[in-house]
Amino acid sequence: MGHENDNNNDSTAVNNGTSWSQQLSLHVLKSCLSELQKELRSRKDLLIPTFVGAFAFGSTLATSTLIQQRLLRMSTGTRPRFIPSSVGILSVSAASLASHYGAIYSYGATTSKKETKFVDQFKNYKNIVATSIEPTLDRRHSLRVVFVGLIVFKLMAGRFWAVAPSSFTSLGSFTRASLPARSNSYASSAQRAAIERIGSLSGCHTCGSRMMFSIGKKVSFHADHMPPNAVVKQMNENWFRKKTGMVVKQRFYPQCANCSGIQGGILASASNELKKFKSTNSFAKLSSKKPNLWRSGGGKLAHFHGIRFRVCHLTGAVIAGLTVYDATPKEIEGGNKSRFSYIEETIHSMCDRAQIFCTNQFSSDR
Ligand SMILES: [Zn+2]
Repeated sequence: MGHENDNNNDSTAVNNGTSWSQQLSLHVLKSCLSELQKELRSRKDLLIPTFVGAFAFGSTLATSTLIQQRLLRMSTGTRPRFIPSSVGILSVSAASLASHYGAIYSYGATTSKKETKFVDQFKNYKNIVATSIEPTLDRRHSLRVVFVGLIVFKLMAGRFWAVAPSSFTSLGSFTRASLPARSNSYASSAQRAAIERIGSLSGCHTCGSRMMFSIGKKVSFHADHMPPNAVVKQMNENWFRKKTGMVVKQRFYPQCANCSGIQGGILASASNELKKFKSTNSFAKLSSKKPNLWRSGGGKLAHFHGIRFRVCHLTGAVIAGLTVYDATPKEIEGGNKSRFSYIEETIHSMCDRAQIFCTNQFSSDR
């Protein structure tokens, strides 16, 4: 009997020990989950506006690319270059504003805090228009947001002209590194290997594809002559180049097989048109337009790349983060003007210091 009691006590001790450890583990797990839940709940207010800001930025640029292709008939090959650059600056400006105000409104829509006056205003139909227009009317603040957006876009290696759709007969929107090409001769094996490496890093210069699904194949990227040989031939026939003896220099850029095929088709068709034009009589030449091979791969035939992600698209997330992160609901509602004002002042003082430094360097050199 005594032995039985001892055994019962031991088993109870073991059972109690197990239940304590289980209880302790459960308690730790519960508190961890509760902390995580709190953290996620607190971040939810920031994550959604940041995501909305990033999405608003990307979709505004995609809309711009589409409008440039379908309505304006523009591409990266549109000359003079300042035209796609200017449209790109306007697009990034609009995208920055879309990110900023998208972040504000999504914060107002998702936050559940009663003290957020914005939510109450948002629910009130009559105030929606007034609430939406009021911050937009603050031109100085909007200009600050645009200013910060343009700087962040450039810091993320964005290029304004590259918002335009990619021309198949000019440099594409994803152009990065290249190699010098000797006239119209094909790339050497060493150049092809180098182009392959450049292509795997920066992708096809026209569509941005990195050919992720062609691993194992010997050659994924073609060494694309830019400008293409047929285009260069027409450009060198220009009277000014003939007089001055100036010839167009070409370089090799990585291009995927698909884009290379499309480029070949466009140039073959445009070259045929050019041949036909040349064979017509002088009277017919006066009434019809001479086909321009440089422009043939642009306009509606250009490649739309609006849905391809680029690092510079994160500008929207940065703008949205600057708007909502570590700010009170009241500050967010007002567009976080003090923060954007502070950024502007900091950039101004940095420019002033850089100017003083350059002036001092220049005067000491003299
Ligand atoms: Zn491509």
